[in-house]
Order: sequence, then C-alpha cells, then structure tokens
Amino acid sequence: MTESNELDVSCANCSAVQARSGKTNCSTGAATSGPPRPRTCPTGTKPEVIGLAVDELRGDGEDARTARVAARVEGLGYERHDGKAHARWSRVEDTIAFARLMGYRKIGIATCVGLLDETSRLVEILEAQGFEATSVCCKAGSIDKVEVGVADGDKIRPGQFEAACNPIAQARICNEAGTHFNLIMGLCVGHDSLFNKHSDAPVSTLVAKDRVTGHNPAAVLYGRHYYRRLRSPLPLPDKGDRDESTVAQDFG
Ligand code: SF4
Repeated sequence: MTESNELDVSCANCSAVQARSGKTNCSTGAATSGPPRPRTCPTGTKPEVIGLAVDELRGDGEDARTARVAARVEGLGYERHDGKAHARWSRVEDTIAFARLMGYRKIGIATCVGLLDETSRLVEILEAQGFEATSVCCKAGSIDKVEVGVADGDKIRPGQFEAACNPIAQARICNEAGTHFNLIMGLCVGHDSLFNKHSDAPVSTLVAKDRVTGHNPAAVLYGRHYYRRLRSPLPLPDKGDRDESTVAQDFG
C-alpha cells in the first residue's frame, strides 16, 4: 500500500474553482487559458505518474483497450441536440454496452441476499441482451458468522443463526464459471473489497449498498442533515451497547 500524500494532491480543493467557473483546468484542456489549477493539482505535482499511466493507456494491452471502450461508452451515454450533450443511458445500459463492446459473453453477478429480486431482473435483462449470467449470493454456503470468527454479540441479532457473507466464495465460483466480467450487486463495504481482490475477471459495481438511501450513497453527501452530523466522529458502540429496538430490518 502506498502512503497517500495529502499535501501535494487534493482534487477536492478544486470544487471551489468548479463552483465559480463551471469547469476545472483539467476538463478544459487549456493549461494556460482555463481556470487556474490549485497548488494541489496532480497535473502539476504528479507529472511522472500521469505520464507513465498515459503510456499504458496508449498501448495495445487489455488495460488500454478497456479504457478506450469505457471512454467510447461514456460518449455513447450522451446524445447531442441543440448544441448540447444530454445524458441518455442509465448505468445498466452503460454496463450492457461496455460488456458487448469488450466482447464479454459470460457475466458473473455477486449479489447481496437482499437484492435477489433486483438480481433476477438483471439476469433477465442480460439474457435478453445475449449474455450468459452466473449469479452467486453472498450467503452461499449458509455458514454461521460465529464459525468464521465473528463474535455472537457482533451479529445483527445476537443469539440467532446469521449467515456470514462469503465474497471469496462468490469470486471463486465466478472464476470457476469462467466469467469474463463480474458485477457487484449491493455487497457490503469490505466484502466488496474482497470480491474485487479475488475475482479473476474485471469487476464493476452496478449497485453500491446503502441500507438507508435506497442504494444511493451520494444522497448522504447532498443532504444537509448527514453532512453536518458526519463532520463529527461517528460514534462506534462497544459490543453490547446496542439498543435492539433500533436495529433496522436488515437483509445483508
Ligand atoms: S486535476 Fe487539477 S484541475 Fe483537475 S480537479 Fe484535480 S486539481 Fe482541479
């Protein structure tokens, strides 16, 4: 793991420039006439890293092809009229287009048990689009959390059977099926990291789990209530501190 260098890179600092001018220096392609770069702009502070990465993107390897197809899908996701670009594709459509243009045929789906209905709709869509889909639920194997070292008191409902998520098994089952591309459907934070780590095929997240925002994590960044509250340290109760009456209905 490389140490992050918070001192010389922070694109977040550019939000003020963007709010003022509606654009950023990097998005205008005008190093001299565009809006200014902040001191922490990686274009200025990380030219070697950027140059080496650009060499890879220009190459003939799979990463270069992936990047080019992704950029093509980005363009296809808009339609142009009245001199403006208007978004026209949902993420599901982007995903179908990307998979087709990459030549993927077999799609793996690592799904949360709480999104089986959505996954079944996705499988129908993918099959209608000519793909073969293998879907694997996070609870496959039905192993109690205690059996993998989770304390009973850390369960959502202590004292009851609670199946552990097994993202490593999800990845290996997709690997065995020879999937060309894997999609994450609402895996927990951290379980998604393990799925990414153990998947042989490239992974894209179709649904990012968020139990309180309808799987729209960005809502927290827009809402004033959360924005204010989460600028103070998030209290993490010790084991046994929880009021069971407040435990939300949870399927993950
Ligand atoms: S790359 Fe530079 S110009 Fe672009 S958002 Fe980051 S800081 Fe701003």
